[in-house]
Amino acid sequence: MKVSVPKETAAGERRVALVPEVAQRLTRSGIEVVLEAGAGEGAHHPDASYEEAGASVQEGTGFSGDVVAKVRPPSSEEIRALREGGVLVGFLQPLTATDTVRALAEARVTSFAMEAIPRITRAQSMDALSSQATVAGYRAALVAAEELPRFLPMLTTAAGTVRPATVMVLGAGVAGLQAIATSRRLGAVVQAFDVRAAVKEQIESLGARFLELDLGLEDAEAAGGYARQLTEEEQQRQRELLAEAIGKVDAVISTAAVPGRPAPLLVIEDAVRNMKPGSVIVDLAAETGGNCELTEPGETVVKHDVTIIGPLNLPSSMPDHASQLYSKNVQNLVELMVSEEGEMKLDFEDEILAGACITRDGEIVHEGAKQAVGAAA
Ligand code: NAD
Repeated sequence: MKVSVPKETAAGERRVALVPEVAQRLTRSGIEVVLEAGAGEGAHHPDASYEEAGASVQEGTGFSGDVVAKVRPPSSEEIRALREGGVLVGFLQPLTATDTVRALAEARVTSFAMEAIPRITRAQSMDALSSQATVAGYRAALVAAEELPRFLPMLTTAAGTVRPATVMVLGAGVAGLQAIATSRRLGAVVQAFDVRAAVKEQIESLGARFLELDLGLEDAEAAGGYARQLTEEEQQRQRELLAEAIGKVDAVISTAAVPGRPAPLLVIEDAVRNMKPGSVIVDLAAETGGNCELTEPGETVVKHDVTIIGPLNLPSSMPDHASQLYSKNVQNLVELMVSEEGEMKLDFEDEILAGACITRDGEIVHEGAKQAVGAAA
């Protein structure tokens, strides 16, 4: 079986789907690895380090594998380079990138989306949403610290005492919890809010305070541990209560998301207006529209003397570890596709492969992707 790794072509993408260390693990287990020249450069892995790992490096071979391992969804040109019946693994945005999904089905590619891997215990080592969200949450806290014109920690100096900054984290999933932990390590006082009641304990175990908002909600946890979408009335109430609480903090890091939907709006203009001049908002949800009304995805703007940052693809800003973790996720998934004899074998009775598969034999087989494509048509 042969796995190939193309160079990522999306603007600003520096990650690579396999790092040399993981390529070596695959080659040692009898899997051939080929890499497009320069594919690892963005993550600081020169071609030579792949060759030392037993992979072959060539121009124009990125799409030649039985399995093509990518980070970002393929462009239409890249889809044309994929083999009929070949396997593609990567972030494919199955619920939103409907044109890509349709094109993959038409090209008769067997595609697996990292986002669609079921979040079950056995699949934890393949959970790329979590590995990349860990990077994004960590970076978001650093961006907030960097932009804030104040200290995060409390300082007692000869020139007087500085009170610690307060950071509010909205959404305490994987990224949010990492942002809490990182802000705490930097010495901030941290509050956090989520609509899922289960996270209260996790927030508190990181030394942060769970912000209690009287939304009249029982709990908003839905299938798979994800949040359900709140009703319009619940959202309205949440925004009003948050506007008050946000006025008292120095920085907001917002990470709230509902799979396949635009990010919930949590921070309205009034909340921004309530903040102290010089405060900062890092809106990790910018990619799906933003949690803050004033966020401009991909931009840093100053409104009401508050700096609002809408970063896109933060994991790519830390490509070395983001790629290392992602590679392990890919390795673990690819190993599910190999028989003991080292041949490619796709067992669709396996709930991980069945759940992650988006297109196969010319059809869209993933329920959510099928609905999204239907709705777009
Ligand atoms: P996510 O990126 O989908 O959402 C981020 C957070 O935003 C979630 O905690 C969500 O509850 C919250 N949110 C949504 N709407 C909100 C609103 N209106 N206000 C405030 N917060 C809101 O989440 P994620 O990080 O991918 O994690 C989702 C769940 O999956 C979590 O329960 C996590 O523990 C679970 N998980 C399970 C596994 C596993 O078992 N393998 C692995 C990773 C994560």
